[in-house]
Amino acid sequence: MGVDGGEEEQMQESTDCHERIFVSVRLRPLSEKEIVRHDVSDWECINDNTIIYRSKLSVSERSMYPTAYTFDNVFGSDCPNRQVYETGAKEVVLSVVSGINSSVFAYGQTSSGKTYTMTGITEYAMADIYDYIQRVMKAQWFLLLTSGYAFPSYSIFDKKANCTSMQHKEREFILKFSAIEIYNESVRDLLSADSSPLRLLDDPERGIVVEKLTEETLRDWNHFKDLLSVCEAQRQIGETSLNEASSRSHQILRVTIESSAREFLGNDKSSMLAATVSFVDLAGSERASQSLSAGARLKEGCHINRSLLTLGTVIRKLSKGRNGHIPFRDSKLTRILQSSLGGNARTAIICTMSPARSHVEQSRNTLLFASCAK
Ligand code: ADP
Ligand code: MG
Repeated sequence: MGVDGGEEEQMQESTDCHERIFVSVRLRPLSEKEIVRHDVSDWECINDNTIIYRSKLSVSERSMYPTAYTFDNVFGSDCPNRQVYETGAKEVVLSVVSGINSSVFAYGQTSSGKTYTMTGITEYAMADIYDYIQRVMKAQWFLLLTSGYAFPSYSIFDKKANCTSMQHKEREFILKFSAIEIYNESVRDLLSADSSPLRLLDDPERGIVVEKLTEETLRDWNHFKDLLSVCEAQRQIGETSLNEASSRSHQILRVTIESSAREFLGNDKSSMLAATVSFVDLAGSERASQSLSAGARLKEGCHINRSLLTLGTVIRKLSKGRNGHIPFRDSKLTRILQSSLGGNARTAIICTMSPARSHVEQSRNTLLFASCAK
């Protein structure tokens, strides 16, 4: 679905929007470094939805900051990646097998746990997607044995369909993988040794596409792991030359699931279903922070990260309902992710934060972002 949909689409979207964006906050443990310098933890998750500031607020602070913040989920410092995935992302990720685009973001200041969280979520998500395909394939083989019909290899039944239609449909699944990095509004292919910037094209049929982007068809689990290693290596090569690039760049890993269904008895009728799930490890949110003084910004030589700021605006507008203009086109990140954010796409945002007192200002900014995204 595009941005400029008809009236019907707009109405449906504004009623659905609250179920499309899920916001979680994850607190990491104090790091060695923080412990050594006697930093203390100021935050506590008191139940599944509420995180509180434990220290006393000064009188002036009391008028500016709440003590308690509520989200779809909050995860305390001892919560493992598996639980963060199961509770905060799984439902959104698996909508992709029903043909709905989805995206999972990690947002937060540098060293708050974004990469730690996204790495875990991506692996659990892919394992689940593989598991889904395998389970449905088993169902196919069961039917093959019991019915005597010949199926092409690697075809599976549509799990969503009920029993009757299961016997009429067969489905074939293909998984494709691509990976990009956005640094200073420049897009790079993480599966290619060539690091020259890639252009975005407005394809009339497929929407925004990244020109010449490598797209690998996944053979199996090991192939997927190998590709992750390639991305990691490419990202590190960039890092040395670009000076701490990972805190300033966004990484998008994208899996496209293509499935074609055919009428069981009539071979020619086919219907293609394609959906993508995007795993986004965002640049450090301090880059978009308003709290840095102009001097500090200059000293860092860091202009505000346009993609991160635009993402904030886009998500805020989407979460309020989609009436009015959504500025997808204002940044590379939001252009690339437009079809994974707008329309009926589903989004999970995991906001990561350090519990340390020394980071309280950044943590409050993160909670403010999370509150606006709800
Ligand atoms: P970011 O990507 O936001 O800069 P990282 O994911 O690299 O931050 O995390 C910074 C450090 O903290 C890493 O050493 C990581 O292993 C550790 N860490 C982050 N989150 C957790 C967590 N929930 N539990 C344990 N260690 C964590
Ligand atoms: Mg990181």
